[in-house]
Amino acid sequence: MALLTLQGVTKHYRQGEIDVAALRDINLQVDKGEFAALVGPSGSGKTTLLNIIGGLDAPTEGSTLLNGTDIGLLKDSELSSFRLFQLGFIFQAYNLVPVLSALENVELIMVLQGRPAAERRQRARHYLELVGLQQMMDRRPAALSGGQQQRVAVARALAAGPRLVLADEPTANLDSENATALLDIMHRLSHEEQTTFIFSTHDPRVMARAERIITLHDGTIVEDEQIDQPHAAPV
Ligand code: ADP
Ligand code: MG
Repeated sequence: MALLTLQGVTKHYRQGEIDVAALRDINLQVDKGEFAALVGPSGSGKTTLLNIIGGLDAPTEGSTLLNGTDIGLLKDSELSSFRLFQLGFIFQAYNLVPVLSALENVELIMVLQGRPAAERRQRARHYLELVGLQQMMDRRPAALSGGQQQRVAVARALAAGPRLVLADEPTANLDSENATALLDIMHRLSHEEQTTFIFSTHDPRVMARAERIITLHDGTIVEDEQIDQPHAAPV
């Protein structure tokens, strides 16, 4: 069974009198361990699709099954808990808590998960080391570069042990050197942890690191391609 199955997902937005079809009949399967890019021009529906997969937005029609659970059937409280334990989110704007250190930022989701303090601390340190920030764990976000802040966000997402990590334009605020470095870290972690990633991007250098490229146009998947040899730094 696929980790993620979308069936007939359609999303309409009303803008006053106008009806905008953001997604039209999306059918998609993603397996465990995939490292997939969602690409397409601005307005093609990438953010809407990621928000629906993540349960942040509801489709007008169709269903989203994640690990066998139809998330459209969950009550609000069940959906919050499902997101907390099954999904990781990485945002364009990093979204770190400014008054907390990198270590505390990574621990925060695990606090909500109710993990014991010692386990939280140990996991947070481990993932910050994996993203190369062992020397910077005690710094607040303002004392970190954009690339470093986004690596904290990657560590935060993975330390919570999600099945699926969703990242909407995670490199949009990074220069291309930091963008490709971030992708290489995500790619390596995806393999080492068998964690599934779906990320959207505009950047051809970021796309080139994906193992699968799903192209959206006007809310429809127009191409879905497996890449045999993605361009990735040697591990
Ligand atoms: P992308 O992320 O690929 O740029 P989006 O998913 O943000 O695309 O948008 C897809 C379409 O849906 C666009 O036409 C956009 O204007 C429209 N849209 C997105 N969010 C909303 C909203 N909250 N209200 C109305 N229209 C929206
Ligand atoms: Mg978008």
